Amino acid sequence: MKATAPSEHKQSQILNRKKVETLNLFESTQLIIKEAVQKLGYNEDMYELLKEPARILTVRIPIRMDDSSIKVFTGYRSQHNDAVGPTKGGVRFHPDVNEEEVKALSIWMSLKCSITDLPYGGGKGGIICDPREMSFGELERLSRGYVRAISQIVGPTKDIPAPDVYTNSQIMAWMMDEYSRIREFDSPGFITGKPIVLGGSQGRETATARGVTICIEEAAKKKGIDVKGARIIIQGFGNAGSFLAKFMYDAGAKVVGISDAQGALYDPQGLDINYLLDRRDSFGSVTNLFTNIITNQELLEKECDILVPAAISNQITEKNAHQIKASIVVEAANGPTTLEATNILTDKGILLVPDILASAGGVTVSYFEWVQNNQGYYWSEEEVAEKLRKVIVNAFERICETSQKNKVNMRLAAYMVGIKKPAEASRFRGWV
Ligand code: GLU
Repeated sequence: MKATAPSEHKQSQILNRKKVETLNLFESTQLIIKEAVQKLGYNEDMYELLKEPARILTVRIPIRMDDSSIKVFTGYRSQHNDAVGPTKGGVRFHPDVNEEEVKALSIWMSLKCSITDLPYGGGKGGIICDPREMSFGELERLSRGYVRAISQIVGPTKDIPAPDVYTNSQIMAWMMDEYSRIREFDSPGFITGKPIVLGGSQGRETATARGVTICIEEAAKKKGIDVKGARIIIQGFGNAGSFLAKFMYDAGAKVVGISDAQGALYDPQGLDINYLLDRRDSFGSVTNLFTNIITNQELLEKECDILVPAAISNQITEKNAHQIKASIVVEAANGPTTLEATNILTDKGILLVPDILASAGGVTVSYFEWVQNNQGYYWSEEEVAEKLRKVIVNAFERICETSQKNKVNMRLAAYMVGIKKPAEASRFRGWV
């Protein structure tokens, strides 16, 4: 089965418009939503409803720092559309967090939840801060302060947070504890990505990487590539990238390149992933231990069969897309490829697995965690892995079929599949 669109049909796509390189994440998301809504035959009202989050709350959180000074942090929680069910999505702690990005990411969560057929709409949160420069105590006070600030609009049947960039199970534990204290009853279902002893799910920590792995396997089948022996480059060595490197290494793939924020390592003979995992610090840095490093940009252009951008956005652009040598690009990060670059890769015959599909493993197992919390009955790791595989394979198939049937690239196909459920639910509810 051919998963990419023939080029003669691409002229009609909005993704071909000039100057899309200059659009920010939110604007480019709106462009694709518009195209998807039109392709599905909905009218302008539907686009008006879905082009922006339904609600975004901005909060200011005063925190006592360790040196006794007070610092006021800005945080956000964005809820895109709750027609399907409660909104769902992570909270990131990062200096670059901003309102536009949180809004775009909440729309993407609606799409992720929809293509995986979870009973959720999309939400996302963030705090402008640098956790790498904060103490444990400061992070705890900030996590608790954030929950107090947003407590009115979140909850197990309203909006369910989770980990994201630079947040982890410890932060989820503090947030769950704070919420349970405010409500005065134990509320494990308020948040996912918790430690196992507090109602976390088996397999949640590795879920994003597992989802990416399943997408790689499916894409490799379509391209007739054997994962065993395939050369793979992974940009980013954080939660997704490092577990993925391990899974690929264990599956017999040759991980020829990895990178972190400081630089990249490339070895055509394959890297010793176990050694690198062992030496990596808690923020995913390892290349600083080496002298023969190359840049992240150089890494993306190196020879490989499968390229996985698992770091930050806007890494593959019209400037370097022509130089990409991989046959398959699987977007484990959010928004690593610009719209122009999406077209260039598609024209080159590269199978691009878009971010909202490739990175959907995390929220899928978050849903399993929430279900287990609600029923008070917990599953084995095998059960979680098996259910996750079904969900991701189904989503992959539906998107490939939509891509072929409508002769659109995989990104637009994913948006078409993703926008349909919130659109239908909104229509049944009589909102449009
Ligand atoms: N932050 C992850 C994502 O962007 C997970 C969200 C969740 O588990 O709810 O998909």
